[in-house]
This record gives sequence, C-alpha cells and structure tokens, in this order.
Amino acid sequence: MRIKTNIITPEERKKAFAIPKKPEVIERQRLPVRYHVEDYDVEDRPRRFLQAFAAILKHSSYRLALDHYIRSTAKCARCATSCQIYQATGDPKDIPCYRSELLLNVYRRHFTLGGMLKGRLLVTGHLTDEMIEEMADSFWNCTACRRCALECPTGIDHGLITHLGRYILSEIGIAPRALVVSTREQLEGASGNTSAIPVPALLDTLEFLSEDMLEDKRVEIKFPIDVEGADYVFFPAVSDFLMEAETLMGIAAVFTATGDSWTIGTGYFDGINYGLFYSDRMLERIVKKVDAETRRLNGKNVLIGECGHASRSAKCFLPTYCGYKDAFPVINIIEYTHRVWKEGRLKLDPNVVTEKVAYHDPCNLARQRWIIEQPRELLKAFCPNYIEMTPNGDDNICCGGGGGTVSIDEIRPYRTTVGGKLKADQIRACGCEVLVAPCANCKKQLRELVEDQGIDCEVVGLHDLIYKAIIFDDSLKIPVEKKHDTLKEV
Ligand code: SF4
Ligand code: SF4
Repeated sequence: MRIKTNIITPEERKKAFAIPKKPEVIERQRLPVRYHVEDYDVEDRPRRFLQAFAAILKHSSYRLALDHYIRSTAKCARCATSCQIYQATGDPKDIPCYRSELLLNVYRRHFTLGGMLKGRLLVTGHLTDEMIEEMADSFWNCTACRRCALECPTGIDHGLITHLGRYILSEIGIAPRALVVSTREQLEGASGNTSAIPVPALLDTLEFLSEDMLEDKRVEIKFPIDVEGADYVFFPAVSDFLMEAETLMGIAAVFTATGDSWTIGTGYFDGINYGLFYSDRMLERIVKKVDAETRRLNGKNVLIGECGHASRSAKCFLPTYCGYKDAFPVINIIEYTHRVWKEGRLKLDPNVVTEKVAYHDPCNLARQRWIIEQPRELLKAFCPNYIEMTPNGDDNICCGGGGGTVSIDEIRPYRTTVGGKLKADQIRACGCEVLVAPCANCKKQLRELVEDQGIDCEVVGLHDLIYKAIIFDDSLKIPVEKKHDTLKEV
C-alpha cells in the first residue's frame, strides 16, 4: 500500500533540529520536562507529526514491527506486572500496552487501509494536538527498560515503540532540551562531545590522574593518547572524565597490569549516544563518529567503557550504519576485564573490599542477556561479602533513570520517587553497603535515588573496586626513591 504524503525536506529537518530561543514546558503534562520546541503554530502539529511518521515509515523497517504489533496485541495487561512505573503509580495510563496504543492507534488510523477507510466513513479518529501532548508526556514517562517485553506473550517491544514515538516527536521539534543541547554540542559544537570537554582539559585531567595513581600505587599507569594501531580504541561516557575518575583509573590500571595496547583518541572520545533515546538520525551520526575515529587511528576494536547505552548503541548499530562486513568488533570493558582475569593476567586481592557488595544490572547490558555473569564472577572473586538483589540479570529492575530520563534534571523528583521507587525498595531489602553499577547513567540515577530516599549505600563503578583490589606484578612497581624522581619529572 502506498501512502501519499509530503516527505520532510532537508531544510525542514534542519529547522526541526534548531535550538529554540527558550525552553518550553508543555502545559497539562504530568512531567515538567523542558522541551526543545520549534517555533511554529501548534495547530500545525498533527499535520507535521503525520508527515514525519510517514517519512520514517518510508525510510525504515518500523512498518514490519508495527504491522505485527497491531495484529497480535492481546490487551491482556500481563505487561503491567513488570513495569516499575505502573507498579509505582497504579495509573492505568502507565500500563505499557496503554502507552504503546497511543502510537499504534495513530498508525492504524492513518497508515493502514482499513483505518483510513473507517476514518473517512465515520469522520473520526483524527490526530489532535492533545493526543500529541499525551504521547510527549507518556513516552518520556517510560524508561525504555524493556522489562515488559519479556512478559508480553506476543512479543511486543514497548521500548521500541517508545523509541519510535520519541523519534517522530523529535522530528517535529519536541524532544527534551537537555538531550538536544548535549547532542548538538557533540555533533556540531567546538568540543565535539556531550560534556563540552576541550582536548587540552582532557589531557590535563589524564595527566593528573596518572600522577595520583603513581603516588597511590607506585606504578606508572598511563592513559595512552592517539596511539596508532592499538588493539582497543576506548570510548567511555565522556562525563566519566568529569565525574568518574576512579572508574577510569581502574580501567587504566587493568591495562597496565596486562600490557595490552589501548588508546584514547583526541579526534573523538565520547561513547555517549543520546540518539538511542530519541532519534535514529542522531544515533547514526554519532555511531559514525566512533567508526571514523577508530579508522583514523587504525585501531582493531571499539572498546566502550562502563556505560550501558553507549555499549548497546555501538554494539548493535555500528554494523547497521557502517556495514556488516566492515564494522569494527565492539566490546564492553567488563568483557575485556573478565577475559584477562580468566586468563590469569589480572590478580585481585580478596582482603581489600570487605563491605556487603551488590550488583545492579544496567538494562542495556543485561536485558538482551549480553553481560550478566561476567561482572558477578569478577566481584565474587574479590568481594567476600557479595550479595544478590532479586530480581536480577535479564529480569532486573531499571534504576528508574533509563532511556535518557536521567539526563533531564528537572524531573529528578519524579525519577527518585516514582521511576526509581521499586529499585529503592530492592536496594533497601538487600541491605548492601556498596552498590556496583557499571553504567554512567545508572550511577547518576542511583546516587540521586539513595540520597533522596535516605538509603545508606555507596554507589560505585565496577572498576572503582577493581582499582582498590588490583595486585600489580613486582616488576611494575617503582622503588620509592625512583618514584619521587618520576614525580619531579611529571
Ligand atoms: S502483555 Fe502484550 S498483549 Fe498483553 S497487554 Fe501487554 S502488550 Fe498487550
Ligand atoms: S519499557 Fe520499562 S518503563 Fe517502559 S513500559 Fe516497559 S517496563 Fe515500563
């Protein structure tokens, strides 16, 4: 079937991604999200929404999934039992299937033959601005954790529908300002990364961390820069350079212990990809930056740091956008550390971390059963008081800040009282003193969660603990006198 519609022109797209003069809070919404909203007549929104929807359907394979979903939905509400948002609010509007129906109804009415005929005959079901506002509210309520997808007997992936809904909205200029501004800096700003860190500041920070580690461990632990032909080109969530120094120190320490070649590229060093949360067009452009930098350095593998969404976006979409044959292999740092530990190339002291330690599974690592056992095996090897939270693994409960919502600071009260309520209950119940969360987004959300909920628990990265427990070979140790000389040189 052919849909007659005007496709969005490149000029319209450019305009849709323009930064607005001031943030806008769409009225009548439950969440006070500040949106990047284009300066056009809101009366025109439904037409624009349908145009964008049609263009996306034409240039993607979403139609296959939507056709399956509208045929197979049983409306049994089994998904309600697995959604941490619905479990916290009890509001029927938060049942995953209700949310997805907002978009599926538009698809049925405007993009299927039966829906179009019925709509014309009965003159009903037209898309209205109120319906768009309800979608804007609802799609940013969902953390896209995809736990409900495991429950649905017909395989409906609400995270995918949430993503598509957000994508269409962003094409008509409705996307959270926090994400749009960061992505704009990453793609078009002078720094080329979401935290706007200039290269000289990056190099200063890394030098400082190396000095600190020399003082602490008596080992020269470097962050190699722009090494050509390295086995691993490293892309952490760039915010780690500002906020997660110990995670980075742990990673550098592991590479120092193994002697494997890795590098950080000054051409591009940001693993964050907010496109995964709201726009396939942005997703593609960011993934291609990772590919270009790895190619520039003639690297062999893309290595992503402790970040769930950065890992999934690179792992799943490098092949999609850069060619299945030519795409670089993508691994997450946990996989690397686990492998070298298994090979006996990494030694960890079991007497250093004695607190009760639990592990939080980032949805983007665990839901598709990618990385679940590796971090547990590592932690159990050196944390004698390791305990489990339940449920866990691919059935884990989202931190409450997934799907990019953690970056929207204005909804922190919502994230820590509603979105993260079940997670807070789970942390309390397990009684851990240290919670390991190998993801920049999870760490931010969980720290805010334990603070706002008054839970006495420290949230750290996996490599933060590895840094504490790592045992270096004596050959790497610098004698005390020489250490002072080295520090003077630095
Ligand atoms: S579990 Fe699946 S079929 Fe049942 S209501 Fe939820 S989405 Fe619909
Ligand atoms: S993806 Fe997660 S937050 Fe969204 S509806 Fe499903 S369970 Fe709820």
